[in-house]
Amino acid sequence: RKWVYLFTEGKAEMRELLGGKGANLAEMTNIGLPVPQGFTVTTEACTQYYEDGKKINDEIRGQIDEHIVKLEAITGKKFGDHENPLLVSVRSGARASMPGMMDTILNLGLNEDVVHVIAEKSGNPRWAWDCYRRFIQMYSDVVMEVGKKYFEELIDKMKEEKGVTQDVDLTAEDLEKLAGQFKEEYKSKIGKDFPTDPKEQLYGAIQAVFRSWDNPRANVYRRDNDIPYSWGTAVNVQSMAFGNMGDDCGTGVAFTRDPATGAKGLFGEFLTNAQGEDVVAGVRTPMHIDEMANKFPEAFKEFNEVCSTLEKHYRDMQDMEFTVEHGKLYMLQTRNGKRTAQAALKIACDLVDEGMRTEEEAVAMIDPRNLDTLLHPQFDAKALKAATPLGKGLGASPGAACGKAVFTADDAVAWAGRGEKVVLVRLETSPEDISGMKSAQGILTVRGGMTSHAAVVARGMGTCCVSGCGDIVMDEANKKFTLGGKTFHEGDEISIDGTTGNIYEGLIPTVDATIAGEFGRIMAWADKYRRLRVRTNADTPTDAKKARELGAEGIGLCRTEHMFFEADRIAAFREMICSDTVEGREAALEKILPYQQGDFEQLYEALEGTPVTIRFLDPPLHEFVPTTEEEIQKLADAQGKSVQAIKDIITGLHEFNPMMGHRGLRLAVTYPEIAKMQTKAVIRAAINVQKKHPDWKVVPEIMIPLTSEVKELKFVKKIVVETADAEIKAAGADLHYEVGTMIEIPRACLTADEIAKEADFFCFGTNDLTQMTFGFSRDDAGKFLNAYYDTKIFENDPFAKLDQNGVGKLMEMAIKLGRPVNPKLHIGICGEHGGDPSSVEFCHKIGLDYVSCSPFRVPVARLAAAQAAI
Ligand code: PEP
Ligand code: MG
Repeated sequence: RKWVYLFTEGKAEMRELLGGKGANLAEMTNIGLPVPQGFTVTTEACTQYYEDGKKINDEIRGQIDEHIVKLEAITGKKFGDHENPLLVSVRSGARASMPGMMDTILNLGLNEDVVHVIAEKSGNPRWAWDCYRRFIQMYSDVVMEVGKKYFEELIDKMKEEKGVTQDVDLTAEDLEKLAGQFKEEYKSKIGKDFPTDPKEQLYGAIQAVFRSWDNPRANVYRRDNDIPYSWGTAVNVQSMAFGNMGDDCGTGVAFTRDPATGAKGLFGEFLTNAQGEDVVAGVRTPMHIDEMANKFPEAFKEFNEVCSTLEKHYRDMQDMEFTVEHGKLYMLQTRNGKRTAQAALKIACDLVDEGMRTEEEAVAMIDPRNLDTLLHPQFDAKALKAATPLGKGLGASPGAACGKAVFTADDAVAWAGRGEKVVLVRLETSPEDISGMKSAQGILTVRGGMTSHAAVVARGMGTCCVSGCGDIVMDEANKKFTLGGKTFHEGDEISIDGTTGNIYEGLIPTVDATIAGEFGRIMAWADKYRRLRVRTNADTPTDAKKARELGAEGIGLCRTEHMFFEADRIAAFREMICSDTVEGREAALEKILPYQQGDFEQLYEALEGTPVTIRFLDPPLHEFVPTTEEEIQKLADAQGKSVQAIKDIITGLHEFNPMMGHRGLRLAVTYPEIAKMQTKAVIRAAINVQKKHPDWKVVPEIMIPLTSEVKELKFVKKIVVETADAEIKAAGADLHYEVGTMIEIPRACLTADEIAKEADFFCFGTNDLTQMTFGFSRDDAGKFLNAYYDTKIFENDPFAKLDQNGVGKLMEMAIKLGRPVNPKLHIGICGEHGGDPSSVEFCHKIGLDYVSCSPFRVPVARLAAAQAAI
C-alpha cells in the first residue's frame, strides 16, 4: 500500500486519505500556486500506527525514508547537510480541521552544526539562532511534552537581563545562549540529550502527530463534532519558508471574507519578521492585512490574486496561511474557513448571488449545528444602552454572555457543574482550556487577535467571545483583574458582547434573537428541498408559538404530565393518586379536566390548524407524590386520611425500576378514568377551537405512550374511542380525530404489524427506545458513559445521536412491518434525536414522515432534513 504521497501526487478529492491540509497543499501545487514542496503521510498510516500498537511499521518507515530522499531531490537540499541543509515543518491534518491536536513543529532538521551553516550562509546569525531556539521549544513541548512554560520563563529571564521587552530585541548571542539553556532544560526533564539527527527528529514529530489524534482534547472535540475516531490524521512534512529572516519577511493568516460577518473582502492579520505561531498565539499583536500592501507590495499583489484563484477554485470562503521570505510569497495552507453562523448564511447567499453556487449547494454548505448560535440571546437593547462599557476587546464570536468571572478552565467546569453561569477570563486560551470554554457562557481574553485560539474555538462552539482586550491588567495567580479602574475578583459578575467586543460590569439582561434576512432565505430554500416535515415538542402555548415562529409545522409531542405540575393542579392530581375508589379518582380528575382542556385549547390556537399530537400521561405516579412533611400533612388533611396512611401510599408507589415500571399506557390500563379525562379534555378543546376557526381543520392526534403489546393498546384505544365519540355526539360536532401510539419498546418494533392495525400513527420515542434497547437508564447512564468514551466503546452519546445500527434497525423493522398492514399509517419521531442532524438524516433515509424536536432546534431540523434530501 502507498502510505506516503508527494504534494505533486495528491489532489483535493483525496481528503480522506491525505487529510484536509494535505489534500489542499496538493491541490494548490497542482494549480500552480507557490507552495513549498513536501509530502503527506496518510491517515491510513495513522490508523495502522494504532493497529501496530503505536509503532510506525517498517513498510511505512521505508516509504517515509524514500520520500525524504525525493524531497531532498526536489528542493536540492539535504537533511543535516553542511552546504544546503533541508529544514521542514511537520503539521497534523485530519479530514476535518481539528483544534486540540498537535498543530505545528517548525524548523525541524536543525542541530548545532546546521545552525552554524545557515547562520553563515544567510549572513543572518540572529535568524539562525532564533529558528533553533524555537525548534527546541516546540519540539520539547509537543513531541516530548515538556511544558512550554519552562522555556518561556527562560526567555523572560533573558529579556529581563538584557533590559528588553520584545523577543525581537534579543540578539544572536542572546538567542544562542537561550538555545543552550533550552537544551539543558530538555536534558534535565527528559534525561537525554536533545536529538541532533534530523531523521530521529522527524520520526519523533510524526509519532507525536499520530499520538495527538488520541489525546483527551481531540477526543472531546471529535465527540462534539461528530468526527469518527477511525478517520485518523495525516502528517504533512513541508520544506520551510522563513518569515523570520528580517524585515522583508513575514507571515500571516487571512480569510477571503470576514469570518464573523461574511462580508466580502480580504480579512486577516500579519506580522513582519515572525514565524507562524506568533500570529495565532497572540504573543505579539499583529497588523491588519492591508498594511501588507505597504510592506510587501509585490507579494501582496500576488496574494490577492491567489485569494481570488482559490475562492473561485473551491467556490467557498478560504482561510489561508502564508509566509513572505525576502519579499517572495509562499502559500502554506488553504481551507474552507470556519465562520460564525451569521457569516455562513451571508456567504452562502452571496455565493448564490455571485453565481458560484446553486441554492441546493448553499443549503448544503451550512452546518445545521451552528444555526442555534443565531437563535441565542442578545443583550436587551434598552439595558445595553443604559450600560457603559468598562472596556473593549475584539468581538470574536457573537452573542451575549453574562456570568461570574472565573480564571481557569477547571474552575469554569467546576462552577458550571454547580449550576453557576460563568465567564472564563484568561490571558489567552490554549487547547487545554477547551472543556472550560465549553462550560462558560462566554470567554474573555487579554491577548490574541481574531485568529487566536480563543476566537477560532469559541466561534466553532457558538460561544460568545471577546478576545484581545489589552487594557485588562491581569493577575491570574490571584484570580483577579482590573479594567476601567475596577477590580474584578473570582465570582464577580461581568457581561460581554461578542459582537461589539464590549465588556460591562454586572449582569445585563438578555433577550432572544430574532431571525430574518439571510436566515429566512436559506430556510426558505431548505423548505423547498426537504421532504421530511418538522414538528415540535411543546407543552406550553409559549413554546408552541416560539416553535411556530421558527417554522414548526405542528406539535409532534405534547407531554401532558408537564401540565400537572402547577400548584393547584398537583393538589388535585395527588388527590387522585391517593383515592381508594374509582369515584374518588374521578372526582379529583374532574377538577383537572378544565385546566387540561384550557391548555389544549391554547395549544390548538397557537398551532393554527396544524396537527397537534397530545401524548397521554406517561411517567410513573411516584413522580407526583409530595416529598416534604408539610405537603404530606396537607394531602392527609385534604384526603381525610392519616399522615401514616399517605406515607404508606407513597411507599407503595416506590418502584425499583420506575422507568420500566407502572407508567405509560399501563397507567391507563389500571386507571382508565385518567385516559377518559384526558380524552374529554382533548376532544372538547378541539371542538371549541374548530368552532372558533371554521377555516382550520383541527384533527386531534391522541398518542398512547409505551405500547409493547397490541392488546393493551386495543384496550386503551377502546376507552379513548368510546369517550371521544360520546363527546362528539353530545356536542353535535363533526370532528375527525386519530389515535396512535408511541413506539418506544423493542417489542413494539418486533410486533409492529400487529400494532399498526390498531394505530393511526406511530411516533418513535427514541429516548425510551434507546434506553430499552441498550438496557441502560436514560437518567443514570451518564455516570459510566465517560468510561465508554475513554475506551472508545462509544464515540457518541446514544441518547443524543441515534444508534443507527441497533435502535435504528428496530425503527426500520417497525416501519417495514407496520406500513403494509396500514397504508394510511403516518410515522414520526419525537425523541431528542429528532433535532440532531445526523439522526434527522437517518429518519429521512428510512422514510419517516416527520421529526419533532424542541422549538430552538426546529431550524436545525429543517436544514438537516433538506441536506438529507439534497
Ligand atoms: C421518548 O421516550 O423518546 C419520548 C419522546 O418520550 P419521553 O421522553 O417523554 O419518555
Ligand atoms: Mg418515552
